[in-house]
Amino acid sequence: MSAGTDLGNEAKRYMDAGDLVPDEVVVGMIRERLEAGAASAFLLDGFPRTDVQAQALDAMLADLDIGLDAVLLLAVPRGDLMDRLTGRWLCRDCGRSFHETFAPYAGADADPCPDTGGACDLYQRDDDKAEAIANRLDTYDAQTAPLIDYYRAAGLLREIDGGRAPDEVREQISAALA
Ligand SMILES: [Zn+2]
Repeated sequence: MSAGTDLGNEAKRYMDAGDLVPDEVVVGMIRERLEAGAASAFLLDGFPRTDVQAQALDAMLADLDIGLDAVLLLAVPRGDLMDRLTGRWLCRDCGRSFHETFAPYAGADADPCPDTGGACDLYQRDDDKAEAIANRLDTYDAQTAPLIDYYRAAGLLREIDGGRAPDEVREQISAALA
């Protein structure tokens, strides 16, 4: 999108309208990058998310004679995901973000708002609220989780215990890609 390519502009039109970018546009953008030789190695983060996307990706990669080395699954129990994803609070004034459990706001005395000098005016975005997060996880279970078996059958799946500390998760990922 920032390069102003035709596909980037097309994707921007969908996003500006608040719509999901269609699969063929996303796959087309990935193809453009790979054909341009943008990377000898690449990582797709959060894609594919559906069976249709996975099949489109496979067809495109086969066409370009590029193989996938691994598919990483960062597995985290649903309860932990709810805690992580519903805990974010933002300040209306300075824009800083905090987390109820992992990075709680220390209060006006210890940590005054850089913008107002008083307490940060915290609020939760609609898409961080429990109901929205639960919907996202339901969508994941219905549409994305089936890809676990798809890539396991292809011998590509590497399961990472995403419930561990960040350093340990990074070590597991490095080992899986070694
Ligand atoms: Zn603030």
